[in-house]
Amino acid sequence: MTFETLGLHSSIVKALTEAGYTKPTPVQEQAVPAALQGRDLMVSSQTGSGKTAAFMLPALNKFALAEQAFQPGLKTPNQERQSARSRGERPRFQPAQPKMLVLTPTRELALQVTTATTKYGTYLRRVRTVSILGGMPYPKQMQLLAKNPEILVATPGRLIDHMESGKIDFSQLEILVLDEADRMLDMGFIEDIEKIVAATPESRQTMLFSATLDGVVGSMAKRITRDPLVIQIASAASRHENIQQRVHFVDDLSHKNRLLDHLLRDTSLDQAVVFTATKRDADTIADRLNIAGFAAAALHGDMHQGARNRTLDALRRGHVRVLVATDVAARGIDVPGITHVVNYDLPKFPEDYVHRIGRTGRAGRNGLAISLVNHSENINIKRIERFTKQLIPVDVIEGYEPKKTASAPRSPRKPGGWKPGDNRGGKPGQRSFSKPGAPRKDGYNKGSHFGDNGGGRRSYGDR
Ligand code: AMP
Repeated sequence: MTFETLGLHSSIVKALTEAGYTKPTPVQEQAVPAALQGRDLMVSSQTGSGKTAAFMLPALNKFALAEQAFQPGLKTPNQERQSARSRGERPRFQPAQPKMLVLTPTRELALQVTTATTKYGTYLRRVRTVSILGGMPYPKQMQLLAKNPEILVATPGRLIDHMESGKIDFSQLEILVLDEADRMLDMGFIEDIEKIVAATPESRQTMLFSATLDGVVGSMAKRITRDPLVIQIASAASRHENIQQRVHFVDDLSHKNRLLDHLLRDTSLDQAVVFTATKRDADTIADRLNIAGFAAAALHGDMHQGARNRTLDALRRGHVRVLVATDVAARGIDVPGITHVVNYDLPKFPEDYVHRIGRTGRAGRNGLAISLVNHSENINIKRIERFTKQLIPVDVIEGYEPKKTASAPRSPRKPGGWKPGDNRGGKPGQRSFSKPGAPRKDGYNKGSHFGDNGGGRRSYGDR
């Protein structure tokens, strides 16, 4: 199957070819033809599966056809607005009337969707995409809205502010997308979403994407879609097959920090995301790693949007090698260079584990996800295993063995002895990490283990 056979406009196919996309991903193969026919969609697909293009390509196709049908003598509504201004007519305030709205849980995901849209729509001259995000200055957003963009990508809270002050009118909306809908509900956006949906025409096309279509998100999806095509790309059990998962038991914080330091010196590591439970820990650990000679940076919700964008940009450019992040801030990060995810603290919910490990193994690459776990947290690992329906193998590195064994035996493997098939839930692959003392390819060999935090014990949920 090719993008042409999916029925996409030549200007979009051209942009995709230039982006290096040779064929559609499974979610694109199923979603694009149905969406091109105007059908509503309810899609459960894994993170990194190509879901952004799955909803954006059919939407852009609609804009491409409208451009093609456009007759040169006619004026678009935006040109009408401009010529009224050039005739010296006092511009009447007119709210933005977008044709498409994409709602995302986080600013990072919204920016990513905006960037992808610009890439896929590079040959569409009349399509403007604007992101409306919390943390962005209001005057700047007013300027963007005054351009009457065709596509809005927004986080729910800030969008509601603009709706309530009459800056946006959804009466012309044709396409509504809810991206990572399960996460938006987890973050408490349900009322905002209901309010936004109620402000859009019933005739709209609705596409909802979510890691799961069970429970509350499933019932909301059914409420807001009409005769949707339901697409289930991967169940929880089959997700992340390209990501090897490991658990390392640690005795205390000092052991955890030494192990983290060792893991980050792995020669197969290009870039890593280290997850912490608290914003404070993200800052503290990033500082310590910097002192130890790593190019590390923190990313969390207390940082201003500008600082968050700069950090993500540095990560994308490879200037940051280790990102120390909290769950919400790291949601949706799509950087192909991330080879490792380390759970310094376990997430509060098993769903977050799935989102965290999905930061690696992007765009079809392999990844490694390592959880550093206290013996008392074994129960939480089991909870994650039940959720993902995958057993996570225990690994032990020579010189970093825990003194205690886990409360329930989890059959630790021999140090350095990973064999294909050991992974049980994951895909067999080379074990290219944990080589003590191996020289780094990137010169990060200097510095010893960073600080010992006094050996205090943390338990699950200690945040
Ligand atoms: P997403 O699931 O939308 O976050 O996409 C994950 C990654 O896959 C992004 O880096 C996309 O640029 C990339 N991607 C999406 N569709 C394709 C495709 N058909 N071929 C190659 N890469 C793709």
